[in-house]
Amino acid sequence: MKSYQGYLIDLDGTIYAGKTRIPTAEKFVQELVKLDFPFLILTNNATSSPQQVAERLNLHYDIPVKANHVYTSVLALIDYLKLYHLNQSIHVVGEESFKQMIVDAGFMLDQTRLAEVVVQGLDRFSTYQTLNEAALAIRRGATFLTTNEDHSIPTEDGFAPGSGAITAFLSFTTQVNPTIVGKPHHHIFDGAIQTLGFERDAILMIGDNYSTDILGGIQAGVDTLHVQTGVTSKEALRQYSIQPTYTIKDLSYWSLPK
Ligand SMILES: [Mg+2]
Repeated sequence: MKSYQGYLIDLDGTIYAGKTRIPTAEKFVQELVKLDFPFLILTNNATSSPQQVAERLNLHYDIPVKANHVYTSVLALIDYLKLYHLNQSIHVVGEESFKQMIVDAGFMLDQTRLAEVVVQGLDRFSTYQTLNEAALAIRRGATFLTTNEDHSIPTEDGFAPGSGAITAFLSFTTQVNPTIVGKPHHHIFDGAIQTLGFERDAILMIGDNYSTDILGGIQAGVDTLHVQTGVTSKEALRQYSIQPTYTIKDLSYWSLPK
C-alpha cells in the first residue's frame, strides 16, 4: 500500500456519527496524534470556529485534537479572500464566530449594501432586513461567496434549513450565483493542501460521503479513502463510475504509517 505524508479527514460520519461515537475512528485519530502524523479535519461547518470544533471533539468524544488540526469552510473562505479580495470590505451573512474570524484575519466588516464582498454561511439569526442589505450589496456588484451548499442540517427536531437555503434566498432575488468554497468544491481542498504543505500525490482524503468528500478529493487530485460508517454505504458506492482509491468498513481496517 502506498504511504502518505498527510491526511484530510471528514468529521460527521467519519470520526463520529452525529451524537453516536465511532470507537474505531477515535482510536485512529488518537494514534495519529500520538505519532504526530500531519492531518487536517476538513468540515463545511461555518458556525463553529476551529477552536470550538476542537473543544467539542475533546469534550464529547475521546478525540484529542487541537484547533490547528481543524480546517473549516470559513478558514477556506478566508484563505480565498486573502488571495483574491485583500483589502476589500466584507459583509458577513453568518454567525458570531464567522464574523470574528473575518475580523481576526484583518478584514474590515461592512454590514451594509456598500460592502465589496458578501460572504455567506449558515446564519440562524438572519432576518429579512439583514438579508435584504446583503442582497442590495450583491445587486450593486459585490462579489458573492458562500461557505457550503448544504441544503439541510440534522437537528433534534429533524432536518433544518442549511446554508444553501439562505444562498437560495439571496440567489433567487439577485439572480447571482455565488462561488462556493466548501466541499466538494476545490477551494477548501486547495486551502487545506496548502496548509498541510505536501504534494497532492502524498495526501489522502478520508470521508464517508461520496458526493462531498470522495468526489471533492478526486476532483482535487488526491487519493481517497471511503469509510462505510456514514452517508454512503458500500452498496450505494457501487453506482458511481469513478471509485475512491480505497473503501473500508471502518478505520480499524486502515494500517497507520509506522
Ligand atoms: Mg461526512
